[in-house]
Amino acid sequence: MKRGDEAVLTLEGFAFEGKSVARLDGLVVFVYGAVPGDTARVQFTKVKKNFCEARTMEVVTPSPLRDIPRCRYFGVCGGCRWQNVRYEAQLDFKRQHVVDALERIGGFRGVTVSPTLGVDSAYFYRNKMEFSFGHRWLTKEEMKERGQVVSSFALGLHIPDRFDRVLDLEECWLQSETSTRIMNTVRRFCLERQLSVFSTGTHTGYLRNLVIREGKRTGELMVNLVTRDDRPEIVREMCDTLLAGIPGITTICNNITERKSQVAVGDREVVYFGPGFITERIGKRTYRISANSFFQTNTLQAERLYDTALRMARLNGQEVVYDLYSGTGTIALHIANDAARVIGIESVSAAVEDARSNAAVNGVENCTFVLGDLRDTLKNRADLLMPFGTPDVVIIDPPRAGMHEDVVRRVVELQPERIIYVSCNPTTQARDLKLMGDQYAIREVQPVDMFPHTFHIENVVSLSR
Ligand code: SAH
Repeated sequence: MKRGDEAVLTLEGFAFEGKSVARLDGLVVFVYGAVPGDTARVQFTKVKKNFCEARTMEVVTPSPLRDIPRCRYFGVCGGCRWQNVRYEAQLDFKRQHVVDALERIGGFRGVTVSPTLGVDSAYFYRNKMEFSFGHRWLTKEEMKERGQVVSSFALGLHIPDRFDRVLDLEECWLQSETSTRIMNTVRRFCLERQLSVFSTGTHTGYLRNLVIREGKRTGELMVNLVTRDDRPEIVREMCDTLLAGIPGITTICNNITERKSQVAVGDREVVYFGPGFITERIGKRTYRISANSFFQTNTLQAERLYDTALRMARLNGQEVVYDLYSGTGTIALHIANDAARVIGIESVSAAVEDARSNAAVNGVENCTFVLGDLRDTLKNRADLLMPFGTPDVVIIDPPRAGMHEDVVRRVVELQPERIIYVSCNPTTQARDLKLMGDQYAIREVQPVDMFPHTFHIENVVSLSR
């Protein structure tokens, strides 16, 4: 078998990043563009000794796990690559991924993993969307009518693996219908005024991003235009157009940055309408979110995630709890009423400031937020931590890379009764849990789906000493 050859295969399961997997004469084949259960004619794109890659040419018999994608951009846009898979099957796969990681990487056998906690609504779940302005990605159909379509302007989402091309979107199922209307109003305005888009090649051009934030619980709505330079007349006009056309917008701002990198964050911010922030609620708490603050993007599932952590922590009001990698303090504040004291530790100072003001706004007095790298803080800053006593419960929510080995070791040395490990990457989580395995036993494993139609998995594990 060689590159370019074709075969008819039946797909057995999901692999990583939305590929499916099949076997051919004992060889593993990773297939793009198919769903487990499909029988498909595929063409090999890569042939190695122990595995192959292939792309789907034709689905011969479609899988019962298939669903009809709602979005007309499905297959081109990188946003929701699993819209063609039934939601229940997505949840099963996420659970299976956790089981596999615990077994293969963690070396844990026979651990019970609960069914993934799914969402109530698999569309319109995000409270933040970051759209890009850029040069337009022309689809095959649009290529044919070249000359009809303006290729120097697009507002939408990046094409997968193409940081320099943007898919012009007139609908998106991720945030809300209002969000789509805002995007379309802004597009019309920019095209009428013939405003230029920022180019990643030359670093010139005015328009960079359109960021929309929506309080799912409060209905508050922010429009944030990110541009390369400061053009107040234009933004003022855009404001008038938006406010006249779309009721419900509560604040509009403009972030300005000349940076070459593509992060939608300004070096300077001008607020044109409203307070410059929205508020959102998770559980009993209210959060103030400005254009550049970090906030969990799925409000309703964040609440389920935090409730899961709280339930597993089994608090009776007497405990000292550490919240490691505390970010803007949302977990600490969520559990504060059920503990004696919560100490959050976080290395980004803006996040620690947000956490402190979130505590103040909510009238929470038993949370302390410590700024520092965990590796250093846990080892060397007993002066900051020990006045509160050793922790009874430790909650951990690290970034994708997981925990540093020294941090794992130090947590184990602190000998908390319970550890709750929240993770957005079951692979690094399993690796870290293995290091705790001598002294801690896994009690419960609960995957939570924060991002329907994507391969992202959030997982909560509780351990007892
Ligand atoms: N628990 C929060 C945020 C978790 S994201 C929430 O639910 O919203 C992970 C956080 O870990 C980020 O805020 C990041 O800044 C922080 N972080 C990453 N490495 C760190 C380290 N070595 N020490 C302390 N904090 C760290």
